[in-house]
Amino acid sequence: MEFSQQLSTTPKSDEERAAVLANPGFGDHFTDHTAVIDWNWTHDGGRWSNARIEPYGPIALDPAASVLHYGQEIFEGLKAYRHADGTVWSFRPEANADRFNKSAQRLALPELPVEAFVESLKEIVKADRSWVPTGDGEALYLRPFMIATEAFLGVRPAREVSYRVIASPAGNYFGGELKPVNIWLSTKYARAGRGGTGEAKCGGNYAASLAAQLEAEENGCQQVLFLDPFNDDAVEELGGMNVFFVFDDGRVVTPTLNGTILHGVTRKSVIQLLKDRGLTVEERKFTLDEWRRTAANGTLREVFACGTAAVITPIGQLKTAEGDIASPALAADSVTLGIREELLGIQTGAVADKHGWLTRLA
Ligand SMILES: *Cc1c(COP(=O)(O)O)cnc(C)c1O
Repeated sequence: MEFSQQLSTTPKSDEERAAVLANPGFGDHFTDHTAVIDWNWTHDGGRWSNARIEPYGPIALDPAASVLHYGQEIFEGLKAYRHADGTVWSFRPEANADRFNKSAQRLALPELPVEAFVESLKEIVKADRSWVPTGDGEALYLRPFMIATEAFLGVRPAREVSYRVIASPAGNYFGGELKPVNIWLSTKYARAGRGGTGEAKCGGNYAASLAAQLEAEENGCQQVLFLDPFNDDAVEELGGMNVFFVFDDGRVVTPTLNGTILHGVTRKSVIQLLKDRGLTVEERKFTLDEWRRTAANGTLREVFACGTAAVITPIGQLKTAEGDIASPALAADSVTLGIREELLGIQTGAVADKHGWLTRLA
């Protein structure tokens, strides 16, 4: 797909950009450009057209656009990392493209060819290359998304859709040092249900998790853990991260992808890196009861969460209305820290990419 280029005539000054890059935060600042591709319904299945780079700015939407009423929307999240030689790379972007298309199917949106998805990332990074941070653990966060723009209040899949990519310099997700996060057990709310949209990366899932997130904050926690109350309180995941449990005998357990858990690219990569280390990974049902029991008898050594934004984060305590479950202090040679360092090393070019996970963007 050929992208036309309309570069910004009012990009941020070097000083403004330097000020942002000195302290990027997460999701607060955006680059000078956006990538866009339009889609229109046709009798023979629809057509993508007008791929372009244009200046970053507000979108003109009809107030009747169906995304505003029925939430027909999906998104992705991945990072562009600057390597020591100045080149810019992304981590398994085809996996994000595949997942984007699975989300599209679930939300009755059109699928975007994988090559067009990857090309759109290359185009925006080419236009906004100077926004890719250089600091340790920093990256340019890329946010592809697709919205139903057709002005129509009837309930059916929209016939006009817009695919876009925005980019935001990202520092360390939980702010600086790597300290264990405390998570709140949500028993009042679920994130997903069987047959629902839990496997799709759609805005609605996040909207539905916010009330639980507020409850977590009221209880002094940064994140929420969701269970499946119809499956013996099996652990599912956090609002935006998958979870792993490391045992003293070298086994590592992570909940099975059973339809209500998001297929994390980080999750999939962590499983591979754990196996590379000779650890036994069990994808299976893991209940709250087993968590309580194995924490109490000392066989559970580490608990961590993983996702693109925060990479790998140790979990300190699970706070519940019926008492807390604490994880032991992390040893210096912990699996959590080892895998985190290896994964970050691969992404930033410091460790050999033996699985061929990196794609050069610029
Ligand atoms: C995006 C997301 C994740 C993490 O996926 P990654 O591909 O590893 O970033 C986990 N859970 C939910 C609900 C998500 O939306």
